[in-house]
Amino acid sequence: MFDVKEIRKEFPILNRKVNGKDLVYFDNGASTQKNISVIKSLEKYYTNENANVHRGVHFLSGLATDKFEETRSVITDFIGAEHTHEIIFTKGTTDSINLVANGLKKILNPGDEIIISEMEHHSNIVPWQICCEFTGAILKVIPITEDGELNIDEFESLINNKTKLVAITHVSNSLGTINPIKKIIDISHGYGSKVLIDGAQAASHIPIDVRKLNVDYYCFSAHKLYGPTGVGVLYGKEDLLNKLPVYQGGGEMIKDVSFKKTTYANLPHKFEAGTPNIAGVVAFKSAIEFITKVGLENITLHQDNLLKYATSEINKIEGVKIFGLSNNKSSIISFNIQDIHPYDIGLILDKMGVAIRTGHHCTQPLMEKYQIPGTARISMAIYNTMDEIDICINAIKKAKLMLS
Ligand code: PMP
Repeated sequence: MFDVKEIRKEFPILNRKVNGKDLVYFDNGASTQKNISVIKSLEKYYTNENANVHRGVHFLSGLATDKFEETRSVITDFIGAEHTHEIIFTKGTTDSINLVANGLKKILNPGDEIIISEMEHHSNIVPWQICCEFTGAILKVIPITEDGELNIDEFESLINNKTKLVAITHVSNSLGTINPIKKIIDISHGYGSKVLIDGAQAASHIPIDVRKLNVDYYCFSAHKLYGPTGVGVLYGKEDLLNKLPVYQGGGEMIKDVSFKKTTYANLPHKFEAGTPNIAGVVAFKSAIEFITKVGLENITLHQDNLLKYATSEINKIEGVKIFGLSNNKSSIISFNIQDIHPYDIGLILDKMGVAIRTGHHCTQPLMEKYQIPGTARISMAIYNTMDEIDICINAIKKAKLMLS
């Protein structure tokens, strides 16, 4: 049984006050809070297990390596990958996307095409712009509908045999839209294009099965999944990762180094140069175990209920406009009220202990499409409650009164 009261007990930070009020945290799209097992795991690692991985013959190095690799196995199962070496640890989604974009710089030719969409996060725009600048490849952009959905007809008119990669977000961080990625993957494969999915906002809301999806690359960050910052995952199909040129050079990623010729390590180490965030990776396992214990289906259901209630309540406030009206949404609501600047709403809410995000959410082209400077964004997670939505809605009403 999903019991939000019990779940909240596992997140110590939720007990704190902000500006003299109980914290109401609705900035989960930016980063989620950490449950106690993740915090304890970090403490335990540095208290009892710390050493560098994959290097030493001594006990602690072996222990740290085992713990680090255990997380790789847990992630492999979590996303249904075939091999543990298809899981590359990175710094986060941004780093994962850059890893692939950097490799493609050495593979793509002038005139090749990459397709992204109008709703992408800057992390899934700028690396492809850099890649295209370097290679002479062409970047094409799928427009979205007014409701904030991908225009699939337009996508089908953009894709062709020159398309080498389609890079699309699974869930829009600004609109909440859940994109039909299976359909996009199937269409893309029909043209011989590979597909990279930015799963930063999806992995905490939607069960992922990379083999069923038949996705080529899937990226996500631990810190949006109740895990530590500075840890991310790049999943890639074995044959593609084997063919992808190395990203960073250094220790760990080599087989042999000489001044004449250096050879590279096998997967996954080929892409893991230098000392990684070992403690973060080890603690990420606790986050995944926590999610698995609660059950992603239960989490999705809870978050969908929060979304439904919050949407209906916010729509009752006169002058509110929600951006992102898809029927298939994750628990994100972006909105503006009349011509009030979202930043001002955010500041007033903060005074009442309510944390929301305001601004362009690293999706400036999307804001340009809607011709707005930004939005106020509520993003809900496993520990949020209906009472918190009431507190937030009342705070928004007060902010509106003060700012109108
Ligand atoms: N893509 C999307 C859709 C995101 O929401 C974010 C984080 N806001 C990122 C990419 C980047 O993630 P990170 O900062 O963890 O690299």
